[in-house]
Amino acid sequence: MCGCAEYRPPRMAHQITLIPGDGIGPEVANATKRVLEATGVQIDWEEVNAGAAVAEARGTTLPPEVIESVKRNKVALKGPIGTPIGKGFKSVNVSLRQALDLYANVRPIKSLPGLEPRFEGTDIVIVRENTEDLYAGLELMIMPGIAQSIKLITETACTRICEYAFLYAERMGRKRVTVVHKANIMKLSDGLLLEVFRKVAQKHPKIEPAEIIVDACAMQMVRSANRLDVIVTENLYGDILSDLGAGLVGGLGIVPGANIGTEAAVFEAVHGSAPDIAGKGVANPTALIQSAVMMLHHVGETLAATKIEKAILEHFASSAVRTADLGGTATTDQFTDALCAAVAKA
Ligand code: ATP
Repeated sequence: MCGCAEYRPPRMAHQITLIPGDGIGPEVANATKRVLEATGVQIDWEEVNAGAAVAEARGTTLPPEVIESVKRNKVALKGPIGTPIGKGFKSVNVSLRQALDLYANVRPIKSLPGLEPRFEGTDIVIVRENTEDLYAGLELMIMPGIAQSIKLITETACTRICEYAFLYAERMGRKRVTVVHKANIMKLSDGLLLEVFRKVAQKHPKIEPAEIIVDACAMQMVRSANRLDVIVTENLYGDILSDLGAGLVGGLGIVPGANIGTEAAVFEAVHGSAPDIAGKGVANPTALIQSAVMMLHHVGETLAATKIEKAILEHFASSAVRTADLGGTATTDQFTDALCAAVAKA
């Protein structure tokens, strides 16, 4: 032993795409960057924008450099993006998911301590198929006064989303995967999902498979959500149940999400651009911060992720500094300052 300090190779910064988005997007994105910085994690953000913010100047809501950046970096953190209504623009969220084949939308619905008692104790995960169903964009006017939207369900997409849900359950130590469907009415399309689910379940004997019809699932989520454990479902049911789930744990301001594909992953909050409070400095950044925690786990920065998780739990359990959506009076900046201080202590 020469007694010299052990050589440590310089830590490489992660190259990550940041899409601040519209409405409250830039406010919550800025708050999230600050909280990540407080952990000491090294990230080189490549900032690009999409949505209404660029539509006027670029003639598109999704300029090519956005897709190129995510493809290059393989990981992105994205603020909410609104779709200009009635101007012929396709949803950026849907286009991004399709262009990058982000087939699994993962939304952990977990209570935080210190909120109203009716929000306590929920801990489920929704795995939503992200690329087809009524979101495939197959709509036509058959004749004036008659419109048709086609619900596209394929065996390939059902197989990979069910596989993802079971593997996720195994990895995260969950016990059960519940498929949510309406196969009693849509016997072919939802029936296909159910058939595939049963086949995939046989390959994962450690996880208990369960089945529930979507309307019954809505009631079950309100009465006893945790029995569902990990939900796997189609695009539209997943969209609606995610907002119901957000309501169960305190609102859209806290629920995170991840869009996972084979080549890239985009992390984003469940909420939209909230134009009603945009620019007022009162948005709750917790949802995007929790999405960034999922992102840190994804890139292997477990220590930084755990620091933020701990700080969030401690902060909500012990501090009254909250934004208005959670009954407080704090601005986004005041809440972020308090959370950064908690991260520094974590
Ligand atoms: P979009 O058209 O982009 O979907 P939206 O206003 O229709 O926007 P959301 O943005 O998802 O839908 O939100 C619905 C309401 O929930 C908002 O009007 C806002 O008051 C509240 N809300 C959503 N996200 C937040 C947040 N992060 N902090 C505080 N309030 C929020």
